[in-house]
Amino acid sequence: MQKKNYYIKTNRIFNPIRKYGWIVTVLIALGGLWEPKLGLAVLFIMAGLTITAFFSGRYWCGNICPHGSLFDKIILPISTNKKIPKFFKSKPFIIGFFIFFITNFIRKIIGISQYWGTYDVLDKLGSLFSNTYLMVLIVGGALAIFLNSRTWCQFCPMGTMQKLSHSLGKKLGIAKITEKKITILDKDKCIKCGKCAKVCPFQLEPYKEFSDNNQFDNIDCIKCNTCVVNCPVKILSLEKEIQSL
Ligand code: SF4
Ligand code: SF4
Repeated sequence: MQKKNYYIKTNRIFNPIRKYGWIVTVLIALGGLWEPKLGLAVLFIMAGLTITAFFSGRYWCGNICPHGSLFDKIILPISTNKKIPKFFKSKPFIIGFFIFFITNFIRKIIGISQYWGTYDVLDKLGSLFSNTYLMVLIVGGALAIFLNSRTWCQFCPMGTMQKLSHSLGKKLGIAKITEKKITILDKDKCIKCGKCAKVCPFQLEPYKEFSDNNQFDNIDCIKCNTCVVNCPVKILSLEKEIQSL
């Protein structure tokens, strides 16, 4: 059984975008109630996360995502920081939620299509995006407070989209050159303290999964550097993929 307080709350904010990105979430989700066009910014966010994922996996989630900033900067201090239930990490749930989300989204876009060519269309579209942002703020925020700050991220449809984009990048051989991965200097120097797992926002366990190339290949790693900063023997770093001979 998982020990109580196994997971440690620690600073995960290592860049200004992560420090202030949550303001964008609040602006789009709540500001969109008054000015729906604010929601159109989500189109750029979706483009950004899809492109970065193609080259670097879930880098967006750990370094740029405005919701991630809200979860880690604002909510983490008041989160119960419990173990994320396996159910939220399970493939059937992640795929099922993705299909539900996308179907719902397409249905709404079809509804909006009757406004094409009118001035209303931008407001309708913006409203769809800002309401979605608001839904994530409410549902993801509640999960963050009562379970763990990154619970939503386990099944977030935008996370799934990143994994699909990243798989394409890998298949085309491009991500192999561009992606950075958590790398251990020397597996023998690891003291198996588990600190990298205890501080990981996604509750991954790098020290148990290093490959023969000394790299952490888990597709869910958000490359946030939290484990790098917290490893007591300083043997972790974020490095380009090491090509096998
Ligand atoms: S393994 Fe390290 S870099 Fe990856 S998500 Fe966990 S803490 Fe962040
Ligand atoms: S924090 Fe460092 S020393 Fe501790 S288990 Fe992880 S890699 Fe090993």
